[in-house]
Amino acid sequence: MTDWTALIRDVPDYPKPGILFKDITPLLADHAGFTQVVDELADGLAFDKVVGIEARGFILAAPVAYRSGAGFVPVRKKGKLPADTLEASYELEYGSAAIEVHVDAFNPGERVLIVDDVLATGGTAAATVELVRRAGAEVVAVSFLMELSVLAGRDRLPGLDVRTLVSV
Ligand code: 5GP
Repeated sequence: MTDWTALIRDVPDYPKPGILFKDITPLLADHAGFTQVVDELADGLAFDKVVGIEARGFILAAPVAYRSGAGFVPVRKKGKLPADTLEASYELEYGSAAIEVHVDAFNPGERVLIVDDVLATGGTAAATVELVRRAGAEVVAVSFLMELSVLAGRDRLPGLDVRTLVSV
């Protein structure tokens, strides 16, 4: 077992002054750490599809889907998916953002695991949960590598099985 938490690096003032960004690229570059977190993200869960949230969520969700015998579904920023989509908006510190999923991404009632790297305010994950449900599937859990607990993102995900491998 490797202490992969030491492989997440703090980058001050990114993407803007005052923000301390958690950079997961050293973890991704470490085979032992990367495989360990992929294993832990899905541990003990049963699901049919894994949703990855653009863009770092893709890097984690795709190997989770592969190792679990599940399908992979991308949730992308507005305008990036080619076919018919459902859209959800959420508030940012300044302004708002929108994400999309293909309308036909799930079969009715499919069990879905949502994966992303960092849970911050929870806005992105809450919008993703809304999209999955509107597309006719069931969210079994939402798994993150890391939770920034001071931002209380899990409060935006009531009644859900919210898993974070490490909380800071
Ligand atoms: P939220 O919607 O919870 O405020 O923000 C979560 C989204 O922003 C996630 O998709 C995540 O990738 C990204 N994010 C926010 N803060 C950080 C951070 O410090 N490090 C990384 N890697 N991603 C972050």
